[in-house]
Amino acid sequence: TDSSNNLYNVVLLGENGVGKSALASIFAGAADSMGSDCDLYGGEVCEQTVTVDDETATITLLDTWDPQDESKWTQDQCMHAGDAYLIVYSITDRASFEKASELRIQLRRVRQSDDVPIILVGNKCDLVRCREVSINEGRACAVVFDCKFIETSAAMQHNVWDMFNGIVRQLRLRRDSK
Ligand code: GDP
Ligand code: MG
Repeated sequence: TDSSNNLYNVVLLGENGVGKSALASIFAGAADSMGSDCDLYGGEVCEQTVTVDDETATITLLDTWDPQDESKWTQDQCMHAGDAYLIVYSITDRASFEKASELRIQLRRVRQSDDVPIILVGNKCDLVRCREVSINEGRACAVVFDCKFIETSAAMQHNVWDMFNGIVRQLRLRRDSK
């Protein structure tokens, strides 16, 4: 998309059930209160203008990733559509953490020449007693992936806006380094 106008596509990736739609609905909820249209394509795509560090950015958040999609068409679309990616796993589900690594590798393969900003997101951090992936494992994984890391809870709305603001800051760093 057009970075000179601060328009960016941000794509949510991750296994089913990790909380992508829950995170997206928090993003969309902020738009609803401002009367914007956040119900494009059945609520899976939400556009909204956010102010981060006194500068606005218009983010289109895509929650269209379907890990079970047989056609692969939507998956390919997702892998190409993003100016930035939120790769989400659940801290209560080790398999989803391993899936996040696969997605990072897949993304690197598809977008070899692009330096796309990525945040590795460990969601459901409210479920402390069900934790299967430690915060240190998450951090270490992000170092290997060369991306940022954050733990969130969509349920408690903890760190969710830090995550969205963080991806906007990453996009700007990339824009300003060009
Ligand atoms: P998606 O398949 O990645 O879109 O996952 P969903 O957003 O549909 O969430 C799957 C389930 O996990 C739902 O029952 C959500 O209510 C629940 N969930 C999502 N995020 C959190 C969270 O941060 N904490 C807890 N406790 N549950 C969550
Ligand atoms: Mg979903």
